Amino acid sequence: MVHTAGPDTTPRCDTCGEPAVYRERTTGRHLCRDHFIADVEGRVLETIRSRNLITPGDHVAIALSGGKDSTALLMILSRVLPSLGPVRLTAITIDEGIAGYREDTIRSADILVARFGLPHLTVSFPQLFGGTLDTFLAGREPEACSVCGILRRKALNVGAERAGAMKLATGHNLDDEAQSVFMNVLRGDLPRLVRDSGSDSQGRFIPRIKPLMFISEKEIAVYLMLHGAWADLPECPYAVHALRGEVRRMLATLASKHPGTMLHLMKSR
Ligand code: SF4
Repeated sequence: MVHTAGPDTTPRCDTCGEPAVYRERTTGRHLCRDHFIADVEGRVLETIRSRNLITPGDHVAIALSGGKDSTALLMILSRVLPSLGPVRLTAITIDEGIAGYREDTIRSADILVARFGLPHLTVSFPQLFGGTLDTFLAGREPEACSVCGILRRKALNVGAERAGAMKLATGHNLDDEAQSVFMNVLRGDLPRLVRDSGSDSQGRFIPRIKPLMFISEKEIAVYLMLHGAWADLPECPYAVHALRGEVRRMLATLASKHPGTMLHLMKSR
């Protein structure tokens, strides 16, 4: 009996016809490895250019926790910024002192900066505030993210100042931004809703920029996998107390049924 091959149903890249690795749900567009990477990096560069987030001559501190978002941020900025002009990058890592969690992500951060040959500065809570987050929280775990958020913001600012940077880039992605909008609504925090944006330059803090604000969590995961940079890292033990975790699950469910939910929420502010 002669077996004839059936029709090839492998999805193909809409741009070049190579096998696709990604389908964009809002547009139905298929992309191969190279065009997916080029698409993500191109959109980050477009965000940077259209919003003047980084300009030639800038010295940018990258908030590098060693987790997936900040890893992707460092990789993408290292690859796209040379096309913008001379820009200096310094990685800043904050060690909050969270036992069983931070050690692994700091190790990842060390490996990454060595690979890209960037200067790296670590600032710890004990150095700055006289104790670890774990010791500050004893018995007040449900408040972890509020306390951590305030102290880490301060610590990042100190790190960026020590590095002599003029801007601080964070790895906030599209999902994070949509979650923040929703959380501000849930808390009735309308002034903050209006204030939150792609860059924030409030008074005494070094201006913060979010070059990944239009890149989804899923795109970041695929980007890292395609670069062989995906790592399974432990989750912060305090994350279970965070309202953000519940909002994240709820929005993920909504977005799976209604593609574009995250972008619409983010643009609503
Ligand atoms: Fe800090 Fe909360 Fe993030 Fe843990 S989950 S690192 S406590 S903000």
